Amino acid sequence: MSGGAPAPEVRRLGVMGGTFDPVHNGHLVAASEVAALFALDAVVFVPSGQPWQKVDREVSPAEDRYLMTFLATAGNPQFTVSRIDIDRGGLTYTIDTLRELHEQYPDAELFFITGADALAQILTWRDVHELFPLAHFVGVTRPGYQLTFDASLPAQSLSLLEVPALAISSSDIRDRVGRGAPIWYLTPDAVVRYIVKRGLYHPHPDGPPPGR
Ligand code: ATP
Ligand code: MG
Repeated sequence: MSGGAPAPEVRRLGVMGGTFDPVHNGHLVAASEVAALFALDAVVFVPSGQPWQKVDREVSPAEDRYLMTFLATAGNPQFTVSRIDIDRGGLTYTIDTLRELHEQYPDAELFFITGADALAQILTWRDVHELFPLAHFVGVTRPGYQLTFDASLPAQSLSLLEVPALAISSSDIRDRVGRGAPIWYLTPDAVVRYIVKRGLYHPHPDGPPPGR
């Protein structure tokens, strides 16, 4: 069943953390590839609460990001969405996400999926060296970023994987909506319709006129 928590008996559980503002096909392809190549039973998408790296910009309401992630993953029986980071409140740190999932699924092996840009920042993450006993990290290629990891990280806890290249980002989708450019086929149709219905990513009506 998609949407709710993965079944308690999962043994190999992928974890796709992100802001998902909005979720897009780059996230979905990465999760699908890792699921296939690492023989995962399920992948749980975990939309962040307030991401600590993004405190300088306004992030869309957590409920909107959760619902878009739900809509995008609903058709895949292997994909689910978890509210743990949203419900914890406050800033989201991956160490808390992994600790909580580890408690929920004590018998499962966790595989944390991360794009090359995020992997390059991992040394700045809270309690970085405590992450690796909790999960195997799978770094995936992302256009525009070099897929490598720092020599100080434990190589046996990290895998690098080439996935089909999709030069899609949530920032670009937000920017496109703001200037009236199409976003069809960058994210599932249901997400495009949800963005329109909720009026997300439009410049604030009372704000200054957009620059040229
Ligand atoms: P933003 O532009 O707002 O930062 P984003 O597109 O980077 O959004 P995030 O929610 O920040 O999306 O990313 C969640 C995870 O998905 C990160 O590990 C990121 O590296 C990975 N990811 C995002 N887009 C892609 C992509 N096109 N290909 C591979 N990995 C991706
Ligand atoms: Mg990002």
